[in-house]
Amino acid sequence: MTNMAIRAIRTYLDPVLRVKTGRVEKIDNSLDQLIQDMIETMHAAPGVGLAANQIGVSLQLAVIDLSSREDDEQRHPLMVIINPEILSLEGTVVEEEGCLSIPDYAEKVKRASKVRVRAQDLTGKSFEITAEGLLAKALQHEIDHLNGVLFIDRLSPLKKNIFKRRFKKLVVEQA
Ligand SMILES: [Zn+2]
Repeated sequence: MTNMAIRAIRTYLDPVLRVKTGRVEKIDNSLDQLIQDMIETMHAAPGVGLAANQIGVSLQLAVIDLSSREDDEQRHPLMVIINPEILSLEGTVVEEEGCLSIPDYAEKVKRASKVRVRAQDLTGKSFEITAEGLLAKALQHEIDHLNGVLFIDRLSPLKKNIFKRRFKKLVVEQA
């Protein structure tokens, strides 16, 4: 039996969050402990999503849990996404976002309103999902993490400046 453990969540100054994560080549039960820890850590925070690099593991792996949402439309069972890629983005929505790696900060971010993602599940099987609403936002946020991107990178120049002044650190400028 494995013991779940809450791991320390890396915060935005940690360089591990800025490195593009590596592909998970071998999907088997050697990932179980890591995934259980990620779920435990996400729930304890509490948060609705966590990428592996947020606990210092630079792999293309994230968990999203919208299972306790009260609104039917936004509820979704716990998801584990391995080696995810965005297939398409549609529409625009501007909504408030936060991140477990940037405590005590939330700001409105522009995202696609609809996203189609391909990923592998715990058995290594490939699947595709089309998402809207909170799940679309969570998928984009977590896949950004896996690419070394934080939501603050997506703020308008004005809001980036406010963030920099408040946190006295640089935001990565998007190309
Ligand atoms: Zn985040």
